[in-house]
Amino acid sequence: MSYREWPDWPQPGERALDNLADVLTSGRWTISCAYRGRRSYEQRFADAFAGYCGTRYCVPAATGTASLAIALEACGVGAHDEVLVPGLSWVASASAVLGVNAVPVLVDIDPATYCLDPAAAEAAITPRTRAITVVHAYSAVADLDALTALAEKHDLPLVEDCAHSHGARYRDRSVGSFGRAGAFSMQGSKLLTCGEGGAVITDDAEVASLAQHLRSDGRVVNPEPVAVGEMELVESGRIMGSNNCLSEFHAAVLLDQLDLLDGQRARRAENAAHLDERLTALGCLPQGTAPGTSARAHYRYAARLPAEVLTARTAAGIAAHLTAELGFPVVQTHRPLNDNPLLRPRTRRRFATDADYLSRVDPARFDLPVCQDVHESVVSFSHEILLAPEEAVEEIATAFERVLTSVRTATGSG
Ligand SMILES: *Cc1c(COP(=O)(O)O)cnc(C)c1O
Repeated sequence: MSYREWPDWPQPGERALDNLADVLTSGRWTISCAYRGRRSYEQRFADAFAGYCGTRYCVPAATGTASLAIALEACGVGAHDEVLVPGLSWVASASAVLGVNAVPVLVDIDPATYCLDPAAAEAAITPRTRAITVVHAYSAVADLDALTALAEKHDLPLVEDCAHSHGARYRDRSVGSFGRAGAFSMQGSKLLTCGEGGAVITDDAEVASLAQHLRSDGRVVNPEPVAVGEMELVESGRIMGSNNCLSEFHAAVLLDQLDLLDGQRARRAENAAHLDERLTALGCLPQGTAPGTSARAHYRYAARLPAEVLTARTAAGIAAHLTAELGFPVVQTHRPLNDNPLLRPRTRRRFATDADYLSRVDPARFDLPVCQDVHESVVSFSHEILLAPEEAVEEIATAFERVLTSVRTATGSG
């Protein structure tokens, strides 16, 4: 075993400190304070990220969870509506649906990409379904050809949860631009981050306007110039909102990080391709992506362990062994959302509106065999590891080789 210093995350770029100092002395720390004579970082980031994603609008927000809830509500989702949610994701993919008083309907995933299975999604549609959400999970892009066709066929908005997939592209277009809206998280572990943050992107002027209202207490950014000392947010009140604004400090850091995103994405993809080749030769099955994918973004590198190894050892056991060998955490995927300790609507009194609603939002009523199988067969690690030099990636492959060989030798299957 050769231990090395693996890359840390996050990594500040060259502009971060200057941008932060600039905000500090600007007299305006958030867009919900008075205009001070120059463009807010928040609006500068919104323009830059919309440009990066190729959409007409971007509405920044305080967190990814808020962005997803805002996107859903702006697409017309409300109380008691059903929303399809892939069964393997971070809890927020489902809790954001609960956050708008709707019902997350957990749907099974594709065994190759770990993303929403279009056939399972179609089977889950009922007259009460109001939206379909998809997560481009770990390093995959979901089958957007099938999912956009499904959404169109049933006249439902598709909302893309892009918390793992900043920079990923499908048929040469950014993820998040295929659905009615795309929601991003800029939380500290994500590929584009400012600690806590988020954004909604869309081409739909109505969705963008509603999203603005929802994230800033029913106000919208005045498109006309305002005088110094006046509020740039206009009290439209067209729809009531909440305060989920992204602060100027956060937007200033995001502008710095956006400069770095493409270079980091390419470097991770190169290292991941090398690792895919090495692990495939060892009998593992690296996570796949939909055929239309033109650029992968690796939030987590994930691979399915060989079946004969899994008859002898659990994925958790292998992951712990790999962690000890490598000196960075290798873990299983998320726990399926029908059996995840973080998704427990009954623990919140706010959801106890009536017995019928409580039983509809019970995650345990869903059956997710593919999610369970992926959880029990796949190990994964975080994206910053893929920023290491090529020879370090070779060390990861040799660690997998040692660990798998030791299991095979112990069980006489090698
Ligand atoms: C992180 C994440 C979110 C929520 O983002 P926050 O910024 O943490 O609120 C939503 N969906 C997925 C898939 C995530 O990984």
